[in-house]
Amino acid sequence: MTSKQKTLIRSLYDPPDGSKVGYAFSLSPAEVERQFGEPVARLASNENPFGPSPAVIDAMQRSLSEVHRYPDREMQSLQHALKSLHGEYSFVIGAGMDGIIETVLRLLLEPGDKVVVIEPTFSFYQIAAEACHGSVCAVPLRHDFSMDPQAVIAASKGTKITFLCTPNNPTGTAVPPETIELIAQSIDGLLFVDCAYGEFSTDIPYDIVKRHSNLIIGRTMSKLYGLAGLRLGYAAVPDWFLPYYEKAKTPFAVDVLALRAAVAALMDQEYKEQVHSHIMKWREQIIQKSPLPVTPSSSNFCLIDVSPKTGAEATLFFAERGVLVRSCDSFSGLEPHYIRASIGLDWECERLLEVLHLLAEEMK
Ligand SMILES: *Cc1c(COP(=O)(O)O)cnc(C)c1O
Repeated sequence: MTSKQKTLIRSLYDPPDGSKVGYAFSLSPAEVERQFGEPVARLASNENPFGPSPAVIDAMQRSLSEVHRYPDREMQSLQHALKSLHGEYSFVIGAGMDGIIETVLRLLLEPGDKVVVIEPTFSFYQIAAEACHGSVCAVPLRHDFSMDPQAVIAASKGTKITFLCTPNNPTGTAVPPETIELIAQSIDGLLFVDCAYGEFSTDIPYDIVKRHSNLIIGRTMSKLYGLAGLRLGYAAVPDWFLPYYEKAKTPFAVDVLALRAAVAALMDQEYKEQVHSHIMKWREQIIQKSPLPVTPSSSNFCLIDVSPKTGAEATLFFAERGVLVRSCDSFSGLEPHYIRASIGLDWECERLLEVLHLLAEEMK
């Protein structure tokens, strides 16, 4: 790279102190499998381990011959499915919830505008906010990972948007709907409630969007519904916000296969229930049987304390034994001795427990 080329890049992506920028990915499953020589338990990214339902695969196969056309701009079939499932709300649809977060920030932020996040949490809020020239103000969770609503309200004074993740990634802890309503009514800006894992908890009722004109409820098809690879998210937004969102969004961000798959997945509630009960069963088992402390989880993953090892050391220990987990030392606001493990298939959860015992044994 020439020095001229270097000047083309925003300093945000080439900081003078050389610090790490961008999303911290987990170890590459393909890479670890190559080294390990057989399939590994993939518990690093909170995906649905069963894959898409047969109805979803069928819907996509029937749509393959249409990919030469741009997708339906209004995304009517999915809009219809969302309204019949959740009610008459204003929905936006995007390339993953990440795509929606990006569009919302692009729509709101002027250079220097403040965005509130509650740490430790999903790193993409900060990545996307800074990309839009926003400045991030982090409110820490309490030591037990509970949230202090008054601290969030105080920090949100004069901000355009506050991100609240429930159940939170990576802690798995959930915030009750009453607290969300309290925050929504006490702040001037928008409250983006990220419910990527909402289905694994006492879910946030949609009607709170009707009671508060500053609430956005973000959803994804990537987790419970098993469509992470297709990139589809949606959100209920205030009615007044919808026309602005439409102006800011990327045209044709969602392809026809993802749209048809999402409709089929939302309609296949029986499959969803099966996956859900598997996750609930194993979540209990892992919490009960883990030899290392697990934070009580309302989600499809568990945060595990691996001290005195670091998350990175423990993640390598797991990888060498055929289990991919997520080291949490890239989450700011979290001490470096945690890993996050998703609930996988039976054999994957069994393997996770085995390796947890090996690790605990080694650290004795
Ligand atoms: C996975 C995840 C998302 C985004 O998922 P998409 O795949 O972009 O829909 C959003 N928020 C949290 C907390 C997540 O863990």
